[in-house]
Amino acid sequence: MRGWRAWLFAAMTVGLTAGAKAAENDARVVLVMTDGMRWQEIFRGADESLLTKERYYNGRSVDELKTKYLAATPDERRQKLMPFLWSTFIPQGQIYGDRDAGSEASVTNGFNFSYPGYNETLTGHGDSRIDSNDDKPNPNLTVLAWVAKQPGFQGKVAAFGAWHVIANVVNPEMCMACMVNAGYDPVAMSPMTREMKILNDVKANSPRGWEDEAYDAPVFESAMEYIRIKKPRVIFLSLGETDEWAHAGNYGEYLEASHRVDGYLKRMWETLQAMPEYKGKTTMIFMVDHGRGSAPEEWKSHGQKVPESKSIFMGFTGHGVPAVGVEKNVAPVTQSQAAATLAKYLGLDWDAAEKQAGKPIDAAVK
Ligand SMILES: [Zn+2]
Repeated sequence: MRGWRAWLFAAMTVGLTAGAKAAENDARVVLVMTDGMRWQEIFRGADESLLTKERYYNGRSVDELKTKYLAATPDERRQKLMPFLWSTFIPQGQIYGDRDAGSEASVTNGFNFSYPGYNETLTGHGDSRIDSNDDKPNPNLTVLAWVAKQPGFQGKVAAFGAWHVIANVVNPEMCMACMVNAGYDPVAMSPMTREMKILNDVKANSPRGWEDEAYDAPVFESAMEYIRIKKPRVIFLSLGETDEWAHAGNYGEYLEASHRVDGYLKRMWETLQAMPEYKGKTTMIFMVDHGRGSAPEEWKSHGQKVPESKSIFMGFTGHGVPAVGVEKNVAPVTQSQAAATLAKYLGLDWDAAEKQAGKPIDAAVK
């Protein structure tokens, strides 16, 4: 090869290498968030003082829930509440935020509620303009929208949210190549499947317990059906019941919702590991947008007036994650580090593209 053809070949090779690392490794990431779940339940399990019939649909018996979730030690209780997390996710990965073990994980945006927390998670920085949960398009580019523009990721990024506002957090206008579905909106997919049509119907025809938030189950199942058909490389799944039941003061159902989330993590993980497109090359991240206050009253709430609701947990497992288990006596980590950490699993450098973004959590990436 000589002359212009050699030059062209060399130019193409150089051009390819930039995106080649990300494209070649074929890594995949799933980010699952469950709104406002407390670190206390993750690491200590159910709080016996809160598990009363007054806090379960205003008077329903909690006898069964006590058998299901209470035990002598925090260790046993947390395994009963989140069995997959404690048997598989954490032993094969790592988790931050166990204050009883000297590990801090926190929100930096100063608001300690949902939109600022999702924005911080997905962009890597807080934003003082995002000071409400109003359903407005995010002015910031998210890591999802950026990844969707990288070689090998076009049409391969999907976001599902139980909360309607999740669509605007991701902002489809900035993420044209992304699949974004939230709230009660039906999933549009081509080809459409019978299963997805049923799920859309279930979502549309169920009682609307909350005006702007669907139940977790149809949202989770829709994400699973989309994965089965479209096999995206990056999946963001945001669930909402944990926050809603806690606000309602329904601790019994908050525990049940948390337990269901654990089941979703298990099903998603096992499904992915049974698919050649995902097996052995997928990282799963599990975290929250904000924490909540303490028993007996403030656990229901969060926000600027509840300073401890800045405390969160952040878990990582699977491909590229050193198996450490519970992080103990380590330097604090922040929600603003999630976006760059996510990108790093994909072989991409988000904090180079977005200068305001927090750095990846080095210890979470091999
Ligand atoms: Zn809330």
